[in-house]
Amino acid sequence: MDYRAPKGTADMLPETARAWEHMQRTAQELFARYGYQPLYPPVFEHTEIFARGIGEATDIVSKEMYTFEDRGGRSVTLRPEATASIVRASLEHNLVPPGSVAKLYFMGPMFRYERPQAGRMRQFWQIDAEILGAAEPSADAEMIALLARYFETLGITGTTLLVNSMGDDACRPQYREKVRAYIREHSEQLCEECARRADTNPLRAFDCKKPTCRDVMDLAPKLRDELCRDCAAHYSAVKGYLDDLGIAYVEDPSLVRGLDYYTRTVFEIQAPGLGAQNAIGGGGRYDRLMEQFGGPPTPGLGFALGFERTLLVMQAQGLRVPAPATAEVYVARAQPEVASAVFELAARLREAGISAELDHQARSLKSQFKQADRLGARLALVVGPDELAGGEVTVRAMATSQERRAPLSGIAEVLQGLLAEG
Ligand code: AMP
Repeated sequence: MDYRAPKGTADMLPETARAWEHMQRTAQELFARYGYQPLYPPVFEHTEIFARGIGEATDIVSKEMYTFEDRGGRSVTLRPEATASIVRASLEHNLVPPGSVAKLYFMGPMFRYERPQAGRMRQFWQIDAEILGAAEPSADAEMIALLARYFETLGITGTTLLVNSMGDDACRPQYREKVRAYIREHSEQLCEECARRADTNPLRAFDCKKPTCRDVMDLAPKLRDELCRDCAAHYSAVKGYLDDLGIAYVEDPSLVRGLDYYTRTVFEIQAPGLGAQNAIGGGGRYDRLMEQFGGPPTPGLGFALGFERTLLVMQAQGLRVPAPATAEVYVARAQPEVASAVFELAARLREAGISAELDHQARSLKSQFKQADRLGARLALVVGPDELAGGEVTVRAMATSQERRAPLSGIAEVLQGLLAEG
């Protein structure tokens, strides 16, 4: 039997899992201050939720989804992103009645059939935030600020915030035609896939990483110059709010994110040292998505940030997540016959808030001490029949091997005192 995890997936071993839990806690605390509530949709949805929501011509829908038929013959898909599910859930539960705003977040795994490499997995973990019902540019700026603030709170430095506007139904269709015409004119100089994009999804050619395509697309018409009045005003207000907050950003007219549903503001935060997978988080506005799902016109916007890439940046920047103590005190038994007293004592200490470990392998006292050292225990309690008879235990400082007797009643308080002394 092959006991390696499937390609593109990884077990989150304790050190990594601790970092993920730290990232989740940090998000929970920070997002609450911005008025967000948690909402956890299912890990799989009916396929059409993503196919229609994200767009048939996107990379995600056309080649990256984990889609299968369940035993009832329904086509279901492991979620490749979060927004479509949140919008679906909001409609199902009427979370955004007209005139209201919902701020929602969740964290969990996403699935895309991509070519795995550092920072690009087939199962990866995201933290996602969405605002539904808010049309004003202040919401865009608040959302961008939250994403930037999140990475700062983790201690990450040196990131770049990119912003752009993708226009709306009033200006993007004409613009898309211009890019289509431009791609056709330059198809000889573009890679095959970009040339083909003229027919399917012209704006995606801006996302190609090949240097020759980049050079060509750098000279393509830019939507920034062709935004309709409303979109231009919205974009400039978003930037104004960011300026007010003192948040530095770079306008990148070629930032077109890979999902069809975006309108107006899009943004991305890039981190140094990650090569091609340098986007650690990003998002944008999607004012038409609710309607596409058959709901009432409801503006929306959101972002997603990725755990794996963020962790790579934290590691590169020397940011460590401290490990909580798992065994401050080791409760050792001097003789097998005191096993049940040791068992109860360890339980009592844990209830008193002390992390305690004991032997479950009938080790000798000497190897119990070795185990205590391995676990990093600062104190050991040595329990023997004589001590017990006198209502006492021996407290051993692991670093110095110094021992002293202490009364069994009130032992938790004694240990807490010793642990606090350091
Ligand atoms: P996206 O939904 O593509 O905008 O992705 C949002 C964030 O999720 C990115 O900035 C990455 O941090 C992360 N991400 C996206 N795809 C992957 C992947 N295949 N593996 C790891 N992280 C990813």
